[in-house]
Amino acid sequence: MIGLIRKRKLGIALMCSDWRLHQGRVDLNWKIARALKVRGVDVVAVPGPDGLLAPARETEWRSAVRQIAVLAKAHDSVALAVVAHQRCAGHPVSDDEHEIGVAAAAKALKEALKFAGPVAAMVATYRSESNWGLKKIADF
Ligand SMILES: [Zn+2]
Repeated sequence: MIGLIRKRKLGIALMCSDWRLHQGRVDLNWKIARALKVRGVDVVAVPGPDGLLAPARETEWRSAVRQIAVLAKAHDSVALAVVAHQRCAGHPVSDDEHEIGVAAAAKALKEALKFAGPVAAMVATYRSESNWGLKKIADF
């Protein structure tokens, strides 16, 4: 409805399962929410999400897309993010390759869902096990 004020604008992050990103003091959910300009983000977690476009992971990719579609419908999500991270065991590539991979995954996610809102590609940057930055790579 035009003019309706959304009280609970939410986003969804497809991010890594790695426990280090999900510690309370890392507060990555809040950092992602702030970057997406939403109140909070639902999380779909898989090991190495920026590697999901590899042919060997097609089943995982389709599963993640399905889960995101369910959440997007349920919460009327306004923005999505694919969040890779440095030093990822689930997709052990260089920092540069994480940036390339996460951009490709974000673009593919937007297309797979025909999502109308922005889909951001981000990388959580390593400072220490309990301190991660968040770098925006691209918006689709
Ligand atoms: Zn990881």
